[in-house]
Amino acid sequence: MEENIEKNKQNFIKNIISEDLKNNLNNGKVITRFPPEPNGYLHIGHAKSICLNFGLAVRYHGACNLRFDDTNPETEETEYVESIKNDIHWLGFDWGNREYYASDYFDQLYEYAIMLINKGLAYVDDQSAERISATRGTPTQPGMESPFRNRSVGENLILFDGMKNGEFPDGSKVLRAKIDIASPNMHLRDPALYRIKKMSHHRTLNKWCIYPMYDFAHGQSDYIEGVTHSICTLEFEVHRPLYDWFLDHIAEGDYRPKQIEFARLNLNYTVMSKRRMLELVRKKYVKGWDDPRMPTISGLRRRGYTPESIRNFSERIGVARRDGIIDVALLEFSIREDLNQKAFRKMAVLDPLKVVLTNYPDGKVEMMTALNNPENEADGVREIPFSMELYIERGDFMEDPPSKYFRLSPGREVRLKYAYIIRCDEVIRDKNTGHIRELRCSYDPDTRSGMAGSQRKIKGTIHWISVDHSIKAEVRLYDRLFDVEDPSGIKDGTEFTDHINPHSLEVIENAYIEPSVKGAKHLDKFQFERNGYFCVDPDSTENKLIFNRTVTLRDTWARMQNNRIE
Ligand code: ATP
Ligand code: MG
Repeated sequence: MEENIEKNKQNFIKNIISEDLKNNLNNGKVITRFPPEPNGYLHIGHAKSICLNFGLAVRYHGACNLRFDDTNPETEETEYVESIKNDIHWLGFDWGNREYYASDYFDQLYEYAIMLINKGLAYVDDQSAERISATRGTPTQPGMESPFRNRSVGENLILFDGMKNGEFPDGSKVLRAKIDIASPNMHLRDPALYRIKKMSHHRTLNKWCIYPMYDFAHGQSDYIEGVTHSICTLEFEVHRPLYDWFLDHIAEGDYRPKQIEFARLNLNYTVMSKRRMLELVRKKYVKGWDDPRMPTISGLRRRGYTPESIRNFSERIGVARRDGIIDVALLEFSIREDLNQKAFRKMAVLDPLKVVLTNYPDGKVEMMTALNNPENEADGVREIPFSMELYIERGDFMEDPPSKYFRLSPGREVRLKYAYIIRCDEVIRDKNTGHIRELRCSYDPDTRSGMAGSQRKIKGTIHWISVDHSIKAEVRLYDRLFDVEDPSGIKDGTEFTDHINPHSLEVIENAYIEPSVKGAKHLDKFQFERNGYFCVDPDSTENKLIFNRTVTLRDTWARMQNNRIE
């Protein structure tokens, strides 16, 4: 893995930029941009793009613009603008005063359209959208020219002005570029530039009743902002000739933005299209955009991911030229790696089984010293109360254990971490149900951790909580939201929502945590020994702590890597 990280430090985009700088392209400037459409919350794929664009700006002492690509009034909302800004800041990037909106360029874009009409390179088409698409041809067959294609410049100017002034109904006319209806590249077959949409826009309100199409707005916005490297995902590769065609007919001087494509991030067991995420939210398969099972940045944050872990993940996966699928285990590896360094350890029992120490004085309390983080001595120690009645995990006891079981079982011993060795003497059952209610154990007073005599070797060590000192908390355990690797690629007629994992959320109402977690703040992160990394959910109150499990401690990614090497 280290080797991969090394290799990725110089990705192909950096090679292109370095070469451009050598040639003094655009006066040796590097300006990138992150252009979200404010029609949903950002997800981990956007995070990749943010890290890439802002990262390149830092690397080349340039700048990165935040541009809201708000050309479609139908789906865009201010709520999304705010969440996007919040998420980018949280990831650790700042655009300074470079906050732009494509809608701020509507006047300029309109002027560019007039310019193209005047050059005989655009025309108003009266055909319906259906007709236009039906006469567009196929990749192997040329399209049919519109009967309106050869309108005079004067007539086009009058009609386009009429479109702008709201004289025509929605859908009755479009402005199209006049390029080549037989081009082998479908995107060059007289693409639409403007459509009529009598709809209020979240920023320009009712000023416009025509709106530019994405392709026309995007490259020109790059040009207006002085962007030098316009980095986008692979599906735009076929749009690049159009991107360049517009600029060739609009731009003055030598400066040109350059479009570069890279492979979008896909993760297995995850859906990332906004349409699908919106469906998950609207139909309440999840609790909201920030549900900890969502791949949104807000969901990952609530789940307990740190900005560093996401940035490291992004660096680690590098920049590819071909689409692929990244294993979600690698994302989990990145957060484990980060929290292993940062998260203080706590004892927490999620599935309690009561243990009574029959030879321990009733009412006595000893304070046991525990490391806050064995990875970092400077994090110091804390004290954990120990008493006669304890909880251990039900899973740490077996009545009839197999030979290699080293935890607690009748007549056998186990070490309670940071405390004593105990032996199970008796199993107490509920008279009616036969269910194991508690264990009667005895402790060996000569085995207190850290004391002389504590060296007695024993194979199993388990965690525990003193019943009287414990804090009750709700704990939410998460599993993958989908039980198939590629929920978006299903071709058997079922919906992606048919493949939601019914066990993706398990709520434990009463877990018992050591008292030192008292006063923990929203999003504070801990390792609950042996149970994983956990984070305080923002729904927590002073009286009720709620924890989300970020990940378990099982590192499936490292294991997969080792298997590969073997
Ligand atoms: P949709 O899912 O609705 O198609 P989108 O992914 O195109 O949305 P935008 O808001 O247009 O969303 O994306 C903003 C930027 O993020 C674009 O530059 C886009 O290329 C990039 N981006 C989006 N998804 C990914 C992804 N999975 N991996 C890398 N970059 C992405
Ligand atoms: Mg998009």
